Amino acid sequence: MRKIMAPCDGWCTSLDEVPDEVFAGRMLGDGLAIDPTTGIIFAPCDGEVLTLPDSGHAVTIRGAPGFDVLIHIGIDTVQLAGKGFEARVKPGSRVRIGDELIRFDLDLVARAAKSLMIPIVMISDGIVLEHRRSPGLIAAGELLFEVLFEVQNGAAGPASSDPTPAIERDAARIERRANITLKQGLHARPAALLARRAKALDMPVMLIAHGRESDARSVVGIMALGVRCGDELLIRAQGAGAAEAVAALMEGLEEALRMERAHGAAAESPVPPVPPVSPVPLEPAQPAMRTSAPQLRPGLMSGVCAASGFAVGRATRIERREIEVEEHGLGELHETGELARARSNVKRRLERVRDTGGAERREIIDAHLEFLDDPTLNGDADALIGAGKSAGSAWRGATRRAIDALQALDDARLRERADDLKDVEGHVLLALTGEARPMHLPLPARAVLLADDLLPSELTALDRQRLAAIVLGGGGATSHVAILAAAMGLPMLVGVGTALATVSDGQQLIVDADHGVLDPAPSVDALIQAEARVEVLRAQALGQRLAAAQECHSLDGTRVEVFANLGSVADAIAAVDQGAEGCGLLRTEFLFIDRDTAPTESEQLAAYQSIANALAGRPLILRMMDVGGDKPLKYMPLPHEPNPALGLRGVRTAMAYPQLMRTQLRAALRVQPYGIVRLLIPMVTDRSEILAVRALVALLMREIRPQQPLQIGAMIETPAAALTAASLMHEVDFVSIGSNDLTQYTLAMDRGHAQLARRTDALHPAVLQLIGAAAMAGEAAGKLVAVCGGVAADRSAVPILLGLGVRELSVVPAAIPALKRQIGALRIEECRALAARCLSLGSAADVRSLVEQTYAHGEEST
Ligand code: PEP
Ligand code: MG
Repeated sequence: MRKIMAPCDGWCTSLDEVPDEVFAGRMLGDGLAIDPTTGIIFAPCDGEVLTLPDSGHAVTIRGAPGFDVLIHIGIDTVQLAGKGFEARVKPGSRVRIGDELIRFDLDLVARAAKSLMIPIVMISDGIVLEHRRSPGLIAAGELLFEVLFEVQNGAAGPASSDPTPAIERDAARIERRANITLKQGLHARPAALLARRAKALDMPVMLIAHGRESDARSVVGIMALGVRCGDELLIRAQGAGAAEAVAALMEGLEEALRMERAHGAAAESPVPPVPPVSPVPLEPAQPAMRTSAPQLRPGLMSGVCAASGFAVGRATRIERREIEVEEHGLGELHETGELARARSNVKRRLERVRDTGGAERREIIDAHLEFLDDPTLNGDADALIGAGKSAGSAWRGATRRAIDALQALDDARLRERADDLKDVEGHVLLALTGEARPMHLPLPARAVLLADDLLPSELTALDRQRLAAIVLGGGGATSHVAILAAAMGLPMLVGVGTALATVSDGQQLIVDADHGVLDPAPSVDALIQAEARVEVLRAQALGQRLAAAQECHSLDGTRVEVFANLGSVADAIAAVDQGAEGCGLLRTEFLFIDRDTAPTESEQLAAYQSIANALAGRPLILRMMDVGGDKPLKYMPLPHEPNPALGLRGVRTAMAYPQLMRTQLRAALRVQPYGIVRLLIPMVTDRSEILAVRALVALLMREIRPQQPLQIGAMIETPAAALTAASLMHEVDFVSIGSNDLTQYTLAMDRGHAQLARRTDALHPAVLQLIGAAAMAGEAAGKLVAVCGGVAADRSAVPILLGLGVRELSVVPAAIPALKRQIGALRIEECRALAARCLSLGSAADVRSLVEQTYAHGEEST
């Protein structure tokens, strides 16, 4: 094991953040990057300077044979031809750790280079990195990572430097390393997902990171590992079935990644905050998302924007009352029973309210439900009850211990999850005492809620209609309560500090969350201007909503349908709210993913019907269950496949299990009003599959006798389907391009592969040619060609897809308003010209830069 020290001061981060495919894609090797704050590069280890070009922008140190570390100062800095760099050593020099290697002019390089980020990369084979420094500030000379030479079982040469596939067998002990690429690390929602998978296994699985260990069934334990993006996670199980158990957890990670991608557009806030109209002089002029102490006019208070917006209202202070609990219990049996009763009451209540809001609320409540069953929390509580505590005191003791563990982490995002634990603590304590929620307070109209902190359930218990904004003395910008506030359209400012205590109840306030500013005592003039601004913003928001609800046309009048991809009723409600004109892809497999038994016809009908009801007459494209490959179903254990992505999946699975297909088709045919449902067949490779489904549909229609024929479409997800689209068109009413799989199969890159994630780009010209072929076949046959894969929400892709002839885009609900606005600003002729040029390019990067150049002048479509 050898140590590599930070060669400079700065902000340490994952290579994923480096804006260069070579480094981000680990093509040279694995490592970390530093965004420097000083212009001196020190030796990261003892060794010899192997290379240091005249340009002085990079240096390689050989610490030992087969142990070479490259430090590359900035991106594309070779073009500076040495300007701004001064080498302090020469190739061949021996250096000791901490010796100066290069000085560079930070300002000059920052201005001239594409990026100042410094990748520090192990360019030798056969090594594994361990103890990587977590993202954050780092000083030169501090440990960056350790390098392990891995030689196993006498295998020739060292093991692969690829951290992911390292499977080790120690008797029946199976370990697997995963490089976490989830942007927010293992925070509450992915942790809940892993814990759910682990609980379904009949053996314990351990997760290890940063020298800490957790039972994989414990959300609290997983979060306390403090795993962030770029960190390594070791998954370990022992005994018969260990390999399957570890594989199940790896799949859980992939599912978490898929969920993150599915929510990616939402997380990136596709609806930008409405720009300030008549700027009120609330300074500073630039949004202060991360600024805690901007230059302010005297009398103003600063905070951090947690949810965008601008509001005027009256200060309404809320304080949380500590729920009182008896310390000593009335015997172990009694208290254990009490706690179980309280937990199950809370569980029932949370399950009832789970689907009453949008997707955000559902996911947060899911995480809270996991806390209730958490083995670590419950184990600790049981131990405290065993030691004589009451149920309430034991539950509080156990949650506080978990909260302390989270608060000790150096990851703000995970620390913010302590709020969720406090929330669940409160739910259970209230259920034990039988008290009502202590924060049911009547709000005055246009209340600006002031508090030190706020819990998710406290916010959802308040009357949204009476709330104008939220301002917290503490709190974090990425907490769950901030996510909820953003979803509710409530401006929210956090981190204002103790100054907030000086604001009196009932005082008129101006909250400018976008600029991170609170005016606690506005002048009459400022109030008049602010009121006017609120009115203009309200009118603009209404205008945007109405525009989003309109049918979508390009600037030159071509009709383009903007539909939504759905996985639940809550998604459908959100989609209609965002202006979806229908559902372009209902992933029916997601509706029943957690079940142990196959859903019956009536269960499926109920689920589809409630989604159809939420869509209120809009078309519902229902995809037949796409099972297999990366979407295993618990109730349908398919035989192990050496190559699942190329095995039984999609329509192939349906044909192998005709009874399941029959049940689903019967349910789909019974949804009312008839004709609203259109059927989409996944993973088609030739016309025989469509004919088989058609034949079954025809048979079932004779039994069910719906009053309308069922439209049937095929997904174009395989190169085979794209290239034979002209022939498939004879058998279908429409096609929908699944760009996620089409990209995977065209580029021969696993769509879930963390290290290939950046290269699995649907804008590769080969994928675009296949989309173009399908679109052309659709145009010739007069059949609609849609895209429902992730590329439909990619702003750079939209003009190309329209130029190729696609006329329906189906995306995550949150992306719809921005997508409609973008399409409304595009001219189809220009899109055609752009698409034609893209088809002849040599890489996805070339396509992206052409799109960027084409719309470089601030047009709406870039
Ligand atoms: C696709 O492959 O693009 C698609 C929409 O299907 P899924 O992502 O569900 O496989
Ligand atoms: Mg697919």
